[in-house]
Amino acid sequence: MPENDVIIIGGGISGLAALHYLRRDKPSLKVKLFEAEPRLGGTIGTDRIDGYSFDSGPNGFLDREPLTLQLCDELGLKEQLERANESVNNRYILKGGRLRSVPMSPPKFLMADIISWPGKMRIAMEPFSKKRPDGIDESIYDFACRRIGREAADYLVQPMVSGVYGGVAQKMSLQSCFPIMREMEDEYGSLFKAMIAKAKAAKAKGKKSGGPSGPGGWLTSFKGGLDKIVVRFQEMYAPFISTGKNAESITRANDGFVVAFKDGSSETARNVIMATPSYETARMTARLSSELSQALGAIPYAPIAVVCAGYRTDQVKASVDGFGFLVPKKENRKILGSIWTSSIFAERAPQGMVQFRTMVGGDGFHESIDLTDEELLTAVKQDMGEIMHIEGEPHMVKMYRWKYGIPQYRVGHRKLLETIERELASIGGIHIAGNAYYGIGLNDCVKQSHKVAGLIS
Ligand SMILES: Cc1cc2nc3c(=O)[nH]c(=O)nc-3n(C[C@H](O)[C@H](O)[C@H](O)COP(=O)(O)OP(=O)(O)OC[C@H]3O[C@@H](n4cnc5c(N)ncnc54)[C@H](O)[C@@H]3O)c2cc1C
Repeated sequence: MPENDVIIIGGGISGLAALHYLRRDKPSLKVKLFEAEPRLGGTIGTDRIDGYSFDSGPNGFLDREPLTLQLCDELGLKEQLERANESVNNRYILKGGRLRSVPMSPPKFLMADIISWPGKMRIAMEPFSKKRPDGIDESIYDFACRRIGREAADYLVQPMVSGVYGGVAQKMSLQSCFPIMREMEDEYGSLFKAMIAKAKAAKAKGKKSGGPSGPGGWLTSFKGGLDKIVVRFQEMYAPFISTGKNAESITRANDGFVVAFKDGSSETARNVIMATPSYETARMTARLSSELSQALGAIPYAPIAVVCAGYRTDQVKASVDGFGFLVPKKENRKILGSIWTSSIFAERAPQGMVQFRTMVGGDGFHESIDLTDEELLTAVKQDMGEIMHIEGEPHMVKMYRWKYGIPQYRVGHRKLLETIERELASIGGIHIAGNAYYGIGLNDCVKQSHKVAGLIS
């Protein structure tokens, strides 16, 4: 008989959430979580330096997922939740070297200068767009061009895709990244008609509906930084967690699996939850199924660097009243965009200072990973200096570099998932969690881990 009922590999939010749900709902099961690094959290982390609070990866989640809010409650973190300031509604896109406001309502859209008048007319024709050819996994860019025209695709949609996924809209799959848009088109024949219908339905229920990319939500974190959730998991579940345990491979054993670790040790379990990045899961499962391993290994990742910089408020001549800005590819800048962290969450910079969180990299800039820290910082300072009219040097800089930062749901992603699901079903007992499959946000990770934990008995 295997020693454990469940082994969880990976101690990011996905693995930790799976551990929580198993302990909460199935306390009689013998569960262990193994994390390769000395610390838990994966891409979630917060550094507190000289009055600044820097998030290494994600800086929050949208409060639209009841499971995540419930999880925070169950972890005793409800009082620690921090909602972003109202100014998050002020968002900008760079066009012609100048920040333009992103219109959040139809009247504001008419007045906005982010899209030309012909571009606006083209958007207004959306209900009369050509139908999608049958049976294709359409790219987000093709979808946007077909429905709202090339200008809106370049200046509204593409920056959103790079902001969320670090992705290139021409390569990313609409049905995998924004399935709700495809459903809206299929059901109503038009995004506008769908939004009007949804707004009416929501109004009848006394609620506010979201935009075309999904239901709305408010950016939320924890007072002082996102790592509070990781610290709490560690406090609650320390006896079930081992850090510094790098899993090497998984093989079949009597009634279950053997997980072998790089330090030469091994553990057996009836079930294994792989909450690791897909390329790691691919490596570990190679001896279980080569088809599974190949499909997992075919999910690409984009690199991303987060450059956090602190300036005195008087050094920054542009307004920082807002969420931040995104940069369309056509603007030929090195940065993907910048988040004005200290305007969004209080106390992320000391009094009289501002914190910017600027992203570099993505699927369109893989070479970014080869930049030295100095080159990276120089690129950020140059773009931010010109766009935000910054004078002088930052007083504080903290950089985080993720070589395999964000999984890319490219056209064909759904097919890879079909292979992965089929192979997992035929093996039985191996489960996947994590951001490489059904959604990249923290909410998606929590949802997937909840689902997987529910499958295990
Ligand atoms: C720069 C950046 C910004 C982001 N911003 C946001 C945001 O604002 N909001 C949002 O919702 N999402 C955001 N995301 C996405 C979000 O961070 C991730 O989807 C989520 O944190 C992934 O969690 P995970 O547990 O699936 O994976 P990870 O966090 O990658 O955790 C996987 C864990 O597995 C461990 N591991 C790997 N291999 C092994 C092995 N062989 N043995 C044992 N352990 C192993 C790793 O060390 C790691 O701890 C962002 C991501 C990045 C990179």
